[in-house]
Amino acid sequence: MPEGDTVHKLVNAMRPLLEGRALAKLWLRDRGDVPELAGERVAEVAALGKHFLFVLGERAVLHVHLGMNGKWLRYARGQRWTRSAATAVVRLDTADWSFVCHQAPVCELLRRRDVALHPVLSRLGPDLLAPEIDLDLVVARARRREARSAAELLLDQRVACGVGNVYKSEVLFAERVHPERDPRTLGDDAIAALYATARSLLRQNLGGWKRTTVRALAPGESLPLGMPRLFVYGRGGEPCLRCGARIASRLHGDDARSTYWCPRCQPAQGAAGAGRGPYAASHGSPRGAA
Ligand SMILES: [Zn+2]
Repeated sequence: MPEGDTVHKLVNAMRPLLEGRALAKLWLRDRGDVPELAGERVAEVAALGKHFLFVLGERAVLHVHLGMNGKWLRYARGQRWTRSAATAVVRLDTADWSFVCHQAPVCELLRRRDVALHPVLSRLGPDLLAPEIDLDLVVARARRREARSAAELLLDQRVACGVGNVYKSEVLFAERVHPERDPRTLGDDAIAALYATARSLLRQNLGGWKRTTVRALAPGESLPLGMPRLFVYGRGGEPCLRCGARIASRLHGDDARSTYWCPRCQPAQGAAGAGRGPYAASHGSPRGAA
């Protein structure tokens, strides 16, 4: 699933091609062409956590969320599409470009004034990739939620938005917090540190390179050949880059979300049901499918 960094990178690439341009055509799967918006200017293209918002003219906002499998493709006008039109959910054309989104589960046209009342958008916490962020506010929002685990807390977009499954595991590793740790056993400083680290890791991946958390890359720099790009995510059973213990992993939930952690760097102290729960893992022994 695209996380906050991917969405912001896509928005940064779309902006110069869309903002200020006249809309030649807008088509939505559930309503077909929207001729009343043809000719309107694209006033703004924005990312909010994992959500795309296109402000169209004075009154309309197109809201898109890519979910697990959604994807944006850009074509020069008249260019043959590389994906079947059958999976397209939105098409947004200017004089020069077609932006086509495939398979996104959320694609809706809103009245601008309704965004502030939207059941999902209005409840999002601060975007971790916003220019400024108030971590005290994020901690206060975290305290109001009833997440059962630190992993669940980080995925809760109502606390702060932008973290998905990959960053969830990487942030917890960086902060040496077990995924199942009860957030109530973490002090305010520890909660703030989780989000400061999430913000830092997301920000260092806004360049053109493939996502990495093991080192902040400079433009043009790449990791040594064969070096893992992530500390724990996707590395079940492999040695921890910090201590050598084998990375543990677990798949859970209907959509088989995966969590990875190092049992030695992230001991289960304070975890709900520590040593017994689904995340219990002895040092060095991977658990669950990698
Ligand atoms: Zn380790």
